Amino acid sequence: MVARHDQTTDPELLAALLQARRGTAFFARKLNELTDAELDGDTLLPGWTRRHITAHIGYNARAIARLVEWAATGVETPMYASTDVRDHEINFGATLSPIALRHLFDHSAVHLNVEWRDLPEDAWHHKVRTIQGREVPASETVWMRSREVWMHAVDLDNGARFADIPAPVLERLLKDITGAWKTRRTDTGLVVKVTGQDQELTFGDTTAESPTVVSGPLPSVVEWAAGRGNGGVTAAGPAADAAQGAVPAAPKWI
Ligand code: ZN
Repeated sequence: MVARHDQTTDPELLAALLQARRGTAFFARKLNELTDAELDGDTLLPGWTRRHITAHIGYNARAIARLVEWAATGVETPMYASTDVRDHEINFGATLSPIALRHLFDHSAVHLNVEWRDLPEDAWHHKVRTIQGREVPASETVWMRSREVWMHAVDLDNGARFADIPAPVLERLLKDITGAWKTRRTDTGLVVKVTGQDQELTFGDTTAESPTVVSGPLPSVVEWAAGRGNGGVTAAGPAADAAQGAVPAAPKWI
């Protein structure tokens, strides 16, 4: 008989799965609030309509499901044949009828969830490769999906805010983003501070002598770092002085 519950018993992984499932439900809610005509509307991502985001989230679930299948079978099935293929798929998906787009989102999310649910405990450690060429255990696919659904729900631009995203997701996002800056060395002289928490979080070029410090509450700082806006953050230091107190744009991270 096929099990109807998660095969893994790892509490950390189960918590991560719950967060990804909640994020998917959150994205679904924001998508379902939109009329078919509103799918043509703009988003927080330049050049992308809500159709592009919905297609991207649907194909992303399929791509991640391929990684989970790879972990389950040992047969290499990459996320995408290439980034060109991925981009082409999104542009094509954006032209689908509203009902087809909604089905794409629903079916791909259900499929991915089943792949996760049925992945045997020991297969979660199996290595797979992301589109960026990173070798990661299959368990990483849960975070890869989580960050897509939570953040792109905000990008739909119909009421979701960074403050709606759970704090652990925001913190991990900020670690990913500032980590990408570090790898590219684009964070020179830039420090990011999260205020208003029991534990102060500081990222960026923390050894800089006179850094530009961007600070604010966690949701605002992540919104700024992700390049989605600068409401709620303040900046001080050389880059802020040069911009007459304005908050400098965050370095690119994708
Ligand atoms: Zn994305």
